[in-house]
Amino acid sequence: MLEIPRFLFQQTETQVSSVYYYKGWTFKHERIPRYRRIKVTIEKNKTLRLSTAIKEKKSHIDQFLLKNEQWVRDRLEKSDRLLQGQQIQVGLPGEEFIFLGEKRKLAIQPFEETVAVRGAQLLIGNPKLNCHGRLIKIRDYYSREAKKVFPEIVKIRSKEMGLVPKRLIFRGNTSRWGSCNEQGTISLNWKLMGAPLKAIDYVVVHELAHLAHPNHGVKFWKMVGRYIPDYKIYATWLRKHHYTLDFLTEIPALHSSRWR
Ligand SMILES: [Zn+2]
Repeated sequence: MLEIPRFLFQQTETQVSSVYYYKGWTFKHERIPRYRRIKVTIEKNKTLRLSTAIKEKKSHIDQFLLKNEQWVRDRLEKSDRLLQGQQIQVGLPGEEFIFLGEKRKLAIQPFEETVAVRGAQLLIGNPKLNCHGRLIKIRDYYSREAKKVFPEIVKIRSKEMGLVPKRLIFRGNTSRWGSCNEQGTISLNWKLMGAPLKAIDYVVVHELAHLAHPNHGVKFWKMVGRYIPDYKIYATWLRKHHYTLDFLTEIPALHSSRWR
């Protein structure tokens, strides 16, 4: 299983929202029914979120924050690093979209009906579409291409490794690049279509290796390394670039428009 760092994602059923101040930091404070823990989340735009029980005592919260100050500082710094060079796509011509690890400039093609990647361009037809409509079309394109390309890679690697998944499914709305369950179903995140082919290959090998070793033990990594000796490069690429593929998310954290 390959996870995108969890601190970037949050989903809670909010009851009361207010603001909590602590040593120069401002937290969006959510008091949640039946919640027992104290949790700090750092959102993509560096908003600090504090989740606690409805009646959590201020002294407890301060104690918790004191203990976790360094963690928060580290995460904020990490967010800064991750956000550097991050682009926000809204669907305007000239914007860059990453496809198979390369940047492609969005261009409108009046006479084309579909989306297509040609060289350094991402062409999109139907000039009547608004920006939001374009993003939806681009998103569909990535998902469609992934469903064509990934099964081919799985087929090749399955044969080599002698490990065949029972089922291959695609997900987009997930914080994982891929997963493999006990029933032998491998799920791949179609957003990987933005990643370099070798990174996609790494995720496929990673998940296939889980069919033999359902853990991240020594034997597991040995197997991954046998098929992709430089797999660490791609694991790092995926860690570094999860924001880059954000325009493919249903509810992009930096966009306020509604996604279908
Ligand atoms: Zn794994």
